[in-house]
Amino acid sequence: MAVEPVGFPQIACTPHEARARIKENWSRVCDEVSLAAAQSGRSFGEVRVVGVSKYVDAEITNLLVEAGCHDLGENRPQALMQKAKWFESTQAEQASKIRWHQIGHLQRNKVRRLIGLQPLIHSVDSERVLEEIHREALAQSLLVEVLIEVNVSGEEAKTGLPAEQTSGLFERHATRVASAGTQDAGARVTGLMAMAGWGTDPQAAQPQFSRLRELRDQMRGQTGWELPELSMGMSGDYQAAIAEGATMVRIGSSLFRGVLK
Ligand SMILES: *Cc1c(COP(=O)(O)O)cnc(C)c1O
Repeated sequence: MAVEPVGFPQIACTPHEARARIKENWSRVCDEVSLAAAQSGRSFGEVRVVGVSKYVDAEITNLLVEAGCHDLGENRPQALMQKAKWFESTQAEQASKIRWHQIGHLQRNKVRRLIGLQPLIHSVDSERVLEEIHREALAQSLLVEVLIEVNVSGEEAKTGLPAEQTSGLFERHATRVASAGTQDAGARVTGLMAMAGWGTDPQAAQPQFSRLRELRDQMRGQTGWELPELSMGMSGDYQAAIAEGATMVRIGSSLFRGVLK
């Protein structure tokens, strides 16, 4: 990762400047997403911008919410839960508008507490985690939306489920869902997520995004589930991802340009 997450504000400007820059960045990113969507025959509303707030603390994150970003992504579940708590206790009105997105690796022992916030979990990278989310969601009578993170880059070191294991995972989850006896609780898989290999340029990333879309189409055929969501694309490659059908882009550093040290 280009920039390490920080637990406190490391801002390179005054809070006043930070507010203005984040607002400007948000509107620039929205314009670019809108343009990329139009070029692939879609509208801005069909691509959700998840603002990745892992680089900053809750107060700076709030500036992003004020700018209009209501989908917030965190890669550490603890940070997500802490921020959600901060918003609930100090910014109740903002808190009600926020949808939380868990985008980084999730350990099974964090599942029980996390799902109470009904986040969208992008980073389900193993069957064990999927099973745990499903089990806990049923126990808490919650419907939890999840995406399966797949490794489409073919590199050993990358995160995500090996692509060849996707089919088996979907097949067994379909059985689990059918035997749960309810459609209103459990883990509901609504699509796939991927990260392009580190250091790859947008042109190298595009075939990986295209592979994820093809895999989604296959899983759709296999399960009969809609699987509308494709979470792919970050600051460096989101235009390429949108061209390949991304419905969610996870953007961090572009939104904090000129703000972080
Ligand atoms: C940090 C992170 C992002 C955002 O990356 P930027 O390059 O800062 O836009 C997206 N997805 C995941 C999983 C991340 O950890």
